Amino acid sequence: MSIIDGKQIARKVRGEVAEHAAALSARGVVPGLTVILAGEDPASEIYVRNKNRAAERAGIDGHTIRLPDDVSYERLCDEVDALNADPSVHGILIQLPLPSGITREQERAVLGRVNPDKDVDGFHPVNLGRLVAGEPGFVACTPSGCMRLLAEAGVDPSGKRAVVIGRSTIVGKPMALLLLQAHATVTVCHSRTPDLRAEVRNADIVVAAVGRAGLVRGDWIKPGAAVIDVGINRNADGKLCGDVAFSEVVEVAGHVTPVPGGVGPMTIAYLLHNVCVAAERTLS
Ligand code: NAD
Repeated sequence: MSIIDGKQIARKVRGEVAEHAAALSARGVVPGLTVILAGEDPASEIYVRNKNRAAERAGIDGHTIRLPDDVSYERLCDEVDALNADPSVHGILIQLPLPSGITREQERAVLGRVNPDKDVDGFHPVNLGRLVAGEPGFVACTPSGCMRLLAEAGVDPSGKRAVVIGRSTIVGKPMALLLLQAHATVTVCHSRTPDLRAEVRNADIVVAAVGRAGLVRGDWIKPGAAVIDVGINRNADGKLCGDVAFSEVVEVAGHVTPVPGGVGPMTIAYLLHNVCVAAERTLS
């Protein structure tokens, strides 16, 4: 059994990104990432600060546009349009959630207004379509990070049975598509799957992206399986934990990611990776 060290692998990815950013800068293009942060959500403040810090360390020019809590839909659109037109901005990230004055429909419209070639989050419908079609585009950072964790653990999905628990557009669905692209036989489970345990029990690779502490139990796991825990939850003691009952699963699995220190650090690393890819594409 091995515990996959996401912190160490993320460090390696950030090192690769820093080399890529330096090479691009030497060719006259400093990769640039701009985050739009509207309102004063404390969790968003922390995420954005961490993203900017990691960007600067990797040699990426990071900026944040702060907008008030009562920002209008029209102002958000104007900001996105200006960033789309700015050649020094290669990646645009709209920090969610947007303030409560912005409706769901407006939020979708703002995300859809980002130029897909600057959509380093990979949330734009055009990029989701490219993933389905197997064409180059931007893939959501968390699933990309999960694939890298599997690769670093020496787990090749080809010919394996994979179960993804969760079907969100930002994690579950792109994860399932990436595993399929890597030649796994993929089952996607969700809140209406009748016998989740039986599905997981068959899997060589399990990816849990639900948001329920300790949902996946040790006796659900096929001995030797690789288990990737995307969930971020707080347990009864207020401590961070994943969707997987780690102390049980670690006894059975071949590989397992911890929470914290597993998938989490990979997400920012792959965001920075995508910014460099976006910058590189402007050169060709
Ligand atoms: P979501 O709420 O959009 O989707 C959750 C999915 O879980 C849904 O598809 C739902 O059908 C499924 N589900 C709910 N209850 C279930 C059950 N009992 N059995 C099986 N499936 C069930 O969430 P999301 O945005 O995909 O995020 C999932 C988790 O991953 C959350 O804990 C989130 O915080 C975490 N997350 C972590 C990172 C990271 O960087 N580590 C990034 C994104 C999300």
